[in-house]
Amino acid sequence: MTARRYALAVICCVVCNVGLSWAEAGTTKRHQQGAHVHGAAAVNIAIDDRTAIIELIAPADSVVGFEHQAKSAADQTRQAKALDLLRNNMDRMVVFNATLGCRFAPTKIDVVRQGEEHAEVHGTFAVSCQSPMAGSKVRFGFTRTFPGIETVNVQLVGVTQQVGASVKRDKGELEVPR
Ligand SMILES: [Zn+2]
Repeated sequence: MTARRYALAVICCVVCNVGLSWAEAGTTKRHQQGAHVHGAAAVNIAIDDRTAIIELIAPADSVVGFEHQAKSAADQTRQAKALDLLRNNMDRMVVFNATLGCRFAPTKIDVVRQGEEHAEVHGTFAVSCQSPMAGSKVRFGFTRTFPGIETVNVQLVGVTQQVGASVKRDKGELEVPR
């Protein structure tokens, strides 16, 4: 391949990739504006040095297993168990490097109704670590904990930078931005 042809191939590749990410961004935006997508959760992690706030928004179907109002005793028990699992295991779902010495505390967990048919689980967690988190790696364990969560749209927001990724079935890791 000549240098010129190679350059053209590279340019095409870059342009095609840009087109693809635009298309994906458009899809994500539509999902956020309309009804939620069962199986897909969103997690926003705001990080400032040694502390972080984690916000999780997930369809109740993916966490509790249903979205109607929990009226029967069986449904109330099932919902309470699912919310307890969430409350006590966020450190297994957003996994910071063990050497940072991070501690998790839930601040708020609610089931929020979305019209007649849908409901979401909204959770907020406070994290405090012994060492600064910037530059460390984060892994995920949502699907392992709640098999109904297959995709998590993650936003990691540092003081000056932000990174995002669509994490499918807990695969991959993200670097904490500065
Ligand atoms: Zn729903």
